[in-house]
Amino acid sequence: MDTQVSTLILEDSEDDLQLLLRAVRRGGIDPVYERADTAEGMCAALESRAWDVIIADYNMPRFGALAALDIVKERGLDIPFIIVSGKIGEDLAVAAMKAGAHDYLMKGNLSRLVPAIEREIREADERRRRRLAEETIRTQFNQISTIFDSLNALVYVVDMGTYRLLYLNRYGAQLFGENWEGRPCYEVIQGGKTVPCDFCTNDKLMLDGKPLPPYIWEYKNMISGRWYQCIDKAIRWTDGRLVRMEIAIDITERKEMERMKDEMISAVSHEMHTPLTAMMGFTEFLLDNEVDREQQKTCLRTIYKETERLSELINNFLQLQRLKASMVKFRIMPVQVGLLMADAASLYAAASKKHRIVVDCPPDLPPVRGNEEQLYQVVSNLISNAIKYSPDGGTVTLGGRAENDTVTLWVKDEGIGIAPDFQERIFERFFRVDNSDRRKAGGAGLGLTLVREIMSAHGGRVWVESELGRGSTFYVSLPVMR
Ligand code: ADP
Repeated sequence: MDTQVSTLILEDSEDDLQLLLRAVRRGGIDPVYERADTAEGMCAALESRAWDVIIADYNMPRFGALAALDIVKERGLDIPFIIVSGKIGEDLAVAAMKAGAHDYLMKGNLSRLVPAIEREIREADERRRRRLAEETIRTQFNQISTIFDSLNALVYVVDMGTYRLLYLNRYGAQLFGENWEGRPCYEVIQGGKTVPCDFCTNDKLMLDGKPLPPYIWEYKNMISGRWYQCIDKAIRWTDGRLVRMEIAIDITERKEMERMKDEMISAVSHEMHTPLTAMMGFTEFLLDNEVDREQQKTCLRTIYKETERLSELINNFLQLQRLKASMVKFRIMPVQVGLLMADAASLYAAASKKHRIVVDCPPDLPPVRGNEEQLYQVVSNLISNAIKYSPDGGTVTLGGRAENDTVTLWVKDEGIGIAPDFQERIFERFFRVDNSDRRKAGGAGLGLTLVREIMSAHGGRVWVESELGRGSTFYVSLPVMR
């Protein structure tokens, strides 16, 4: 059976058309054809359906093969285009081929027409297949680049022999600049180094010419100043060569946490020694000596005070750790701060005979957004400090007021006060204003740090107003619960 070929014939002469049709039919092709001899006619035909081949007369009264080629090109079509002409000089034929024609034949010798049609259709098919394959690869590459570009991690690929960068994702380009292509990794990623890094992992990725499992390591980048966990692997690049791929994840926050934790643990163990030494010393003294009742009481009071201090230190430390590690997903509820202040006041009222605790809150304070237990801790730390740092006694006033969407609470004492230089620093971890008066009062310098952390977790803040020798007022403000 003859092969059907949709053929657009650009020809003005009916006789020549019949000649062409006869020639293709003889060669075993059944042409499903249309004829046009103007640009408009050709355009209409191109729009009406897809064509396997275009056969064009070189010269027609109102149209020509070169103009037809222009139309094909403009429309970005890849259709085999064969010129069939009465007489065409070699130079014109060459020009037509340059313009995109695939073949040209003489009307007097059409024996080559069918083989030419078949060959050109085959080649066009081949081109189409290749284009499709390339497009698929491009799409896949774009999809993979999109994934790598959206990662919050540095991803790059580097030639293991020349160290030249073959790929850098957007995260990397944002860090190290857009101009990376083909430049050595040590120059781009390590801030203009001129030789490979001494910590380069190239030799850890291969054994006897074969890729090893991923190599995982950590390092601090000199340009960004950030810590990365890197996963390096030798892989085969698209052209077959072995390359190093690195995925580097920013772990600066984790490193900072680890550093803080280490620092905290060593500081806490140091702080623990002081009360423990006192407790041991006094217990030993009591065990080894015959002491009268009064002396016994003095020793036990000290031991009790140091035990309290140790317990406060451990409690504050654990709470801080949990807050920092965001382990506590605490329950947020409306908290009636007026009641909370009254509760705390009644607990502390019995604790000291020298101090008077007064609650001066309007009864209609709106509830705030927060976690009751933690807010109680805040108030309790502030009251305990107010008592601790008013060694001569006095009044401790708990107050509150509501303004717009905030409730501000305060704890005011008439104690020793804080010099202006220290009014910010007292919120730092382990910071204690160092003078003998304060040293007498036990503490680990964590109470206010905890207050500040809890406030920031609540979207609130804490600050102090104080005058040395005249007392201090600590304020906390919290969002109202609507
Ligand atoms: P601690 O009381 O365990 O030392 P804090 O973090 O609670 O730790 O307080 C840090 C420092 O701030 C205290 O050591 C003290 O010097 C100072 N301070 C805190 N509260 C008051 C206050 N009400 N009056 C005077 N000084 C205070």
